[in-house]
Amino acid sequence: MTVPKWNDPALKAGTMIKTALWLVSEVGEGNIFTKEQHRDAFPGIAQADRRLRDLRDFGWVIHTNSDDGALKPEEQRFVKTGLPVWQPGIRRSVAATTITAKQRQAVFAADDYQCVVCGIAGGESYPDALNDSAVLSISRRDVLLQGERVEVQLVTECKRCRAGTDGETSDVGRLLSDIRDLDDTERARLIRWMERGRRGATPLDRAWTAYRRLPAEMRGDVRRRLLG
Ligand SMILES: [Zn+2]
Repeated sequence: MTVPKWNDPALKAGTMIKTALWLVSEVGEGNIFTKEQHRDAFPGIAQADRRLRDLRDFGWVIHTNSDDGALKPEEQRFVKTGLPVWQPGIRRSVAATTITAKQRQAVFAADDYQCVVCGIAGGESYPDALNDSAVLSISRRDVLLQGERVEVQLVTECKRCRAGTDGETSDVGRLLSDIRDLDDTERARLIRWMERGRRGATPLDRAWTAYRRLPAEMRGDVRRRLLG
């Protein structure tokens, strides 16, 4: 598909799309531009700055001087191209704010009804806070795929991981020593999770979540069969 020209008078597109095209053809990845240059490209557009920021929702990386100390306050750096927002359908697929019940079910099922970050199952208690049980929800995540392509994916996360803080102080030394204590298979699995940026379900997890999803009387039946 050919990329439209940002200043083509025939182009029917909003300022965000035109800004994306302007960045690609006039600024170029890795280069610096000023707010004034952007404003001059889109004269009379009151919310041009905001439309530029909107591109971040589509995986575009644009740094200001708070992200990159080498930049002056009026400068920004176009670090990386995101989704091709000028293509029909791309924006709708990402911007759809409502996730249907069917989609939610499909995402939960694909993630084995567990948080892709910490692995907790819905309704299960956190190991360090037994009266706090996990509520799973769906988050949008920018996932970097092979070939530097950013795709927004729906993933299952618990409320705690979604909030992004666990209130604990991190102890990297302790973590590294715990990782060294894992057996080779577990360590290899952990490294794969690190590379993918998300946890994968193990056969043990799958058995546990499948068990937890059974009705109470069937759970009792499974326990009796295993123990008896
Ligand atoms: Zn979690």
